[in-house]
Amino acid sequence: MPLSRASTRGRYSRIVGVTHVELSNEPDKLLWSWTANGVYTAQSCYRATFQGVTGCHSWKLIWRSWAPPRVKFFHWLACQDRCWTAERLARRGLQHHPRCLLCDQEPETIKHLMLVCPFARHTWHEILAWLRLPAPTPEHDDSIMDW
Ligand SMILES: [Zn+2]
Repeated sequence: MPLSRASTRGRYSRIVGVTHVELSNEPDKLLWSWTANGVYTAQSCYRATFQGVTGCHSWKLIWRSWAPPRVKFFHWLACQDRCWTAERLARRGLQHHPRCLLCDQEPETIKHLMLVCPFARHTWHEILAWLRLPAPTPEHDDSIMDW
């Protein structure tokens, strides 16, 4: 089914961000809406690509740490809630355990496994004591990035 010219123009306008059109007899020209002078630059295109994206403020902590790459990657996955926990398996309709396999007290989420589970809290306490860091163990309402 062919699209009407007005329908095509409307779809194109939404894609390229046309907001105001004045008709004249002058030849058409394209203006890049992401720069003040209307000229395309790779820099403005790069910035436009990430317009409206929410950033992860802990990226420096993750990627610039001395930790091995596999630990950095796991930390990044945990911050994004992309680890294959029972909760994530359930969201995908996959077979999962109803509760945390370590403590059998709460559903297995990444927050529970990393911060709330008594085994995780004990592990963090031991690590912090071994490193002689005066940091407190995570609280129940902390997120991974907050702690
Ligand atoms: Zn647990």
